[in-house]
Amino acid sequence: MTTLKIVDLHVSVAEKEILKGVNLTVNTGEIHAIMGPNGTGKSTLSQTIMGHPAYQVTSGHIYIDDQNLSEMTVDQRARAGLFLAMQYPSEIQGVTNAEFMRAAINARRADDDQINIMTFIQQLDEKREFLSMTEEMAERYLNEGFSGGEKKRNEILQMMMIAPKIAILDEIDSGLDIDALKVVSRGVNHMRSNDFGALMITHYQRLLDYIIPDFVHVMMGGKIVKTGGAELAKKLEAEGYKGLRDELGLDI
Ligand code: ADP
Ligand code: MG
Ligand code: MG
Repeated sequence: MTTLKIVDLHVSVAEKEILKGVNLTVNTGEIHAIMGPNGTGKSTLSQTIMGHPAYQVTSGHIYIDDQNLSEMTVDQRARAGLFLAMQYPSEIQGVTNAEFMRAAINARRADDDQINIMTFIQQLDEKREFLSMTEEMAERYLNEGFSGGEKKRNEILQMMMIAPKIAILDEIDSGLDIDALKVVSRGVNHMRSNDFGALMITHYQRLLDYIIPDFVHVMMGGKIVKTGGAELAKKLEAEGYKGLRDELGLDI
C-alpha cells in the first residue's frame, strides 16, 4: 500500500497564506474528491503536492509513505508514484505525445528496466482504443494544439500508461462535453484497484456521478471543513456551499 499523508499543511503564495492547516490521507485503493468554492485553495494543494516552486510550505508536512516530500525534487515525487494531471509539458518542442509518454515511463524506471518498445506500442494502442482516441493523436507533437477535451483525454492516457500509485486530478472535468466526460471517467474507473489511489478536485458534482468517490472533502477558506462519503457531494449539489456554511456556522 502507498499512502499520501498531509499533516497540518500551511501554504503561502506571494506572501499570502492560502492553505491554513490541511489534513488529509489518501491510500492506494481509495478515490477521494475535494470540492469547494472558487479560490479556496484546491489547486494550491495540488501544486504544492507536486512541488511547484511558487507555493511555499510555511508549516506542516506532506509524506509519501515515510518520505517527506519537502526533501524531494519534482522528479523524485514522480518516481515515488505521484502523478499530476494538468502538468502539461507545452514547452517541449519537437517531441511527439508517444515519445513523451515513453520517456515519462522510463524516467520512473531503473536504467536496466526500461520499457520494451514493442510492449510500449502494444500498451499504447490498447489504452488509446479504450479511450476512443485516434492513432494520429499519439503521433502528434505535444505543442501542436490539442483542444481542451483532447488534452484531458490525453492526460488520462498518460496516467494509464504511467500507472502512478497516487494521481492528483485537478479539474479533469472542466470544459468537457458529456461524451468526453464519460471517456475520462472510464479511464479513471479502469485504473481503480488496490494499487491506485486518486485525489480528484472538482467544482461540480457531475463528475462524481461517473466516478463514485469513497470520500468527499469540502475545502473552504484553506481548510477541509467537512468529510463524508459520496452522499456529501449530492447534498452540496442540492443545498450549495451556503447550506454547509450555515450548518457549520462558518463565516468564510
Ligand atoms: P481553487 O483551485 O480552489 O479555485 P487556488 O488554489 O487556485 O483556488 O487559489 C487560491 C488563492 O490563491 C486565490 O486567491 C488565488 O488568487 C491565489 N493564488 C493561487 N496561485 C497563485 C499564484 N501563483 N500567484 C498568486 N496568487 C495565487
Ligand atoms: Mg495549523
Ligand atoms: Mg483550482
